[in-house]
Amino acid sequence: MEKITKPRGTMDVFAPDIFAWNYIEKTVRETAEKYGFTEVKTPMFEEIGLFRRGVGETTDVVQKEMYTFTDKDGTVFALRPEGTASVARAIIENGKATDTLPLKYFYLINCFRYEKPEAGRSREFVQFGTEMFGAPSPGADFTVISLANAVITKLGLKNIRLHINSIGCPACRPKYREALVEYLRGHRDELCDTCLDRMESNPLRVLDCKNDSCKKVAEGAPRTVDHLCPECEAHFSELKSYLDACGIEYVIDPHIVRGLDYYTRTVFEFIAEGIGSQSTVCGGGRYDGLMEQLGGPKMAGIGFGMGITRLILAMKQDGVEIPALAVPELYIASMGPKAAVEAARIVTDLRASGVNAECDIMSRSLKAQMKYADKIAARFVLILGDAELESGRAVIREMASSEQTEIALDAVAAYLAEKRS
Ligand code: ATP
Ligand code: MG
Repeated sequence: MEKITKPRGTMDVFAPDIFAWNYIEKTVRETAEKYGFTEVKTPMFEEIGLFRRGVGETTDVVQKEMYTFTDKDGTVFALRPEGTASVARAIIENGKATDTLPLKYFYLINCFRYEKPEAGRSREFVQFGTEMFGAPSPGADFTVISLANAVITKLGLKNIRLHINSIGCPACRPKYREALVEYLRGHRDELCDTCLDRMESNPLRVLDCKNDSCKKVAEGAPRTVDHLCPECEAHFSELKSYLDACGIEYVIDPHIVRGLDYYTRTVFEFIAEGIGSQSTVCGGGRYDGLMEQLGGPKMAGIGFGMGITRLILAMKQDGVEIPALAVPELYIASMGPKAAVEAARIVTDLRASGVNAECDIMSRSLKAQMKYADKIAARFVLILGDAELESGRAVIREMASSEQTEIALDAVAAYLAEKRS
């Protein structure tokens, strides 16, 4: 029979990689909670209009990358390509905008984008994201960047650098836009078809194009930082003071504009050199106009998205050791069906009290059971047969030291606890 394979650009994850996933998810949750962010869950699919309006009609995500489908009643939905638009919608829909400010949410979500798969880029990927709404000051930008930095530091990543930029606001953007369009008009011949299309409608997108020739044009383009209004200038410089004061190193990178339309003022990326062409581990910025764009109140917003697979690539590159699953403390080998039941009873009690224990469920020979105990690296092995059932005592052996002790069967938990301390 013909085999069915997974969809292109998706993945199956087994141990030991799954340990890295779980370790990252645990670290992310713990760190976000320390910063006072609470987790939020939203649907995996939304009406397509949410992303059209929230992410932007002229972005790659909306124009080329969305997975869409029509429901039985004719409504067109999209699998979420990112999390920000959904969280903003959920805040508006659930009346959270009137809660005490700032609102601080995080999420760990699967996102879907129809992209060309390569290392660090897949069609289904998991993103750790944060959203802070209702805080317009540079201290908010700093807090969000500091959270991303804390996760990266906690995961032990070293070859990673923070890049920051300011792309201005609706007050200073028009002037910059004029300068940019004029520059781009002079380089028409070097732009790809998509960029030629977007040049007049959304020229900033050209600066984010992945095409090599467009990238070269972007290199020489006018810089947003040279066209900031006094308020944006002050905001950016205050952010830098916060970062300096807290010892978070950064480089100012005028080429960062970010791929989604909703950004204003601060944009940033954490880039891990050497993990391949997809080196942006984390991307984020400020989006003060998004809430209104989605029919909500005027409310400042800032956040980031961090791709888990790219974090794993960076961890592998930096040689970070990933804590594996705990090994069993005890393996009970048994001989005969009666002993097998008693072994299961002891193991079940131990598990209920938080001990990682195993016993034979394969009816293997004693020799094969010992081999298995060795394979799973159990710290202790206890052998249970008819004689032990009768006497209520058995020999427990510490595998590493070969030390053997006879203990009462109802004292196994106490013995293990004593050995642990
Ligand atoms: P890129 O420039 O790599 O396409 P982007 O600007 O589209 O990134 P965002 O929408 O800001 O990315 O997403 C935030 C983060 O999510 C990225 O920095 C990256 O770590 C991760 N990410 C985005 N797209 C993918 C993907 N297709 N596969 C794996 N991770 C992704
Ligand atoms: Mg992208």
